[in-house]
Amino acid sequence: MSSFLDLSHYFPVENIRAGFSLRSFPFSPPRDRIELAHQLQLNSEGLVLPEQVHSGNVKIITNPGKYHDTDGVITAEKSVVLSIQVADCIPLFFVDSVNKNTGLIHAGWRGITKNIIENGVNKIYELGTEKESLHVLIGPSIRECCYEVGPEVAKQFEEKNIRPGKGDRSFLDLLGVVENKLISLGIPQKQITMMIECTQCRAETYHSYRRDGEKSGRMIAMLGWRN
Ligand SMILES: [Zn+2]
Repeated sequence: MSSFLDLSHYFPVENIRAGFSLRSFPFSPPRDRIELAHQLQLNSEGLVLPEQVHSGNVKIITNPGKYHDTDGVITAEKSVVLSIQVADCIPLFFVDSVNKNTGLIHAGWRGITKNIIENGVNKIYELGTEKESLHVLIGPSIRECCYEVGPEVAKQFEEKNIRPGKGDRSFLDLLGVVENKLISLGIPQKQITMMIECTQCRAETYHSYRRDGEKSGRMIAMLGWRN
């Protein structure tokens, strides 16, 4: 079995390469991103490496390299290779099938309350993407079955996305929150694909920060164009 998911086929456009590393992929930064790029047939010299901080910050990228305080990257450049890392948080892949703009967003509850979804979609619209050609793939993340939060987190979300847990705890459907936001930003539902496996439940396949704590590894999401 491969140690990463090749997600390229989710997008209706030629030469796009999208991947997601699994728990069986050696987690060894920074070497692991170079290795995943090679396995996806992408040029590792084009890698974009955001230093993620659970912010709402999305940057438009024109050159490879490191980007501080960045949780979303959007580009019109065919030569850059976008990457982010996650373990339970939601990875979003954006592909514009007409103008060929692309983006990757790291979305946890903090980033979502700081409008990372709105910022990401609006930034790709700024590059000329139209909603009719924007395809969004939501990669594996922690699901409502395992995502228990305290009242201080729950109160920041709409009641329809909350299910009561023990005492003052709640289960939060963060994926539902994201889907509602994407639709309200104009993206047709048929262009939104959600991978529904829970990273905490599927211990043999995925890293999970909730399950493994500080020692948890990370999965890498990567997106670029084959030359
Ligand atoms: Zn679960």
